[in-house]
Amino acid sequence: MADKRDYYEVLGVQKGASEDEIKKAYRQSAKKYHPDLHPGDKDCEEKFKEVNEAYEVLSDSEKRARYDQFGHAGVDPNYGAGAGGGSPFGVDMDFGDIFSSIFGGGFGGRRAANAPQRGGDVETSVTITFEESAKGTTKKVSYNSVDTCTDCHGTGAAAGSQPKTCSACGGSGRVTINQRSPLGVIQTQRTCDACHGRGKIIDNPCRRCNGSGRYRQPHTVDVSIPAGIRDSQILNVGGHGNAGVNGGPKGDLHVYVNVRKHELFERRGDDVWCDLPITFAQASLGAEVTVPTIDGKARYTIHEGTQPNDIFKLKGKGFTHLGGRGRGDHYCRVVVEIPKNLNQKQKDLITQFDRSTTESNYSKRSGFFDKLKKMFG
Ligand SMILES: [Zn+2]
Ligand SMILES: [Zn+2]
Repeated sequence: MADKRDYYEVLGVQKGASEDEIKKAYRQSAKKYHPDLHPGDKDCEEKFKEVNEAYEVLSDSEKRARYDQFGHAGVDPNYGAGAGGGSPFGVDMDFGDIFSSIFGGGFGGRRAANAPQRGGDVETSVTITFEESAKGTTKKVSYNSVDTCTDCHGTGAAAGSQPKTCSACGGSGRVTINQRSPLGVIQTQRTCDACHGRGKIIDNPCRRCNGSGRYRQPHTVDVSIPAGIRDSQILNVGGHGNAGVNGGPKGDLHVYVNVRKHELFERRGDDVWCDLPITFAQASLGAEVTVPTIDGKARYTIHEGTQPNDIFKLKGKGFTHLGGRGRGDHYCRVVVEIPKNLNQKQKDLITQFDRSTTESNYSKRSGFFDKLKKMFG
């Protein structure tokens, strides 16, 4: 815990990096350290976890702000501060599942040639709308994966024939070499040349797969995307990766979820923010207004004397907390729009109105002039 690295350093970005820079750095690092590319490399496994953890925090403006202010203590409940309950990053559908599926079967040293082997994982991506990320959705996702050949059922041998056990290695796929040295005989093992480690020789290869027993082809699958998912999160779909070898299980499909930007809404943590333009008459007199939310239209009563940049909140109208209970809130920032292109009559009315006001109508202005007086006498 004590020597946790700085999250910005982990992703190799500056402290003030933009969302896009962080996303880009994350993708690069996640690719670089992806365990599929470094099977058995514990160091890479750790780095991959570290990168994902850093991204979980820095991609969420709320957590990032807490992290900027309090460091790791601001985002990790194990430090005894901050977020209450749930998983450390507030996301239960986190990378744990992906890890267990990647690391569960893969490690464990040297394998016999015909031992069952789990198939590799496959990646694809899907783009959803802001609304879909709020409500959750099901998407048809396309990807390519390697399947067991249906003609030869993975044996690689043409119909009516069978692969033969390799006589050079006795089917183990490996040969032992004895080398004399001053210290005695040293035994080393290497992959059998005759069968390329498969342990079997195919005289009459299957024509569909050219004897490999497998081929790559396109697929689609319906993926259910949970409400509250964030841009660039990865969903793990079990059993849709490459076919296993020698009866091993299939790998998984990793779906990168991209969320489109919205014209009105912005997501901050699990809250939704939007600007609400109103007229200066509505701001002065108060008004009942329609507010767009991810649930649809809502009514809100603006109180008399509302100021520009006032913020009001519609509780529980934000995003569903992923993997947890409850929802974020919907915030509206008031934008008071000053009318333009006024005709003479309108101008006269405003002039007339302006002359009717006194200092008591403008608390900021009167305060301002009091201060001016103090400064300059
Ligand atoms: Zn085949
Ligand atoms: Zn062999």
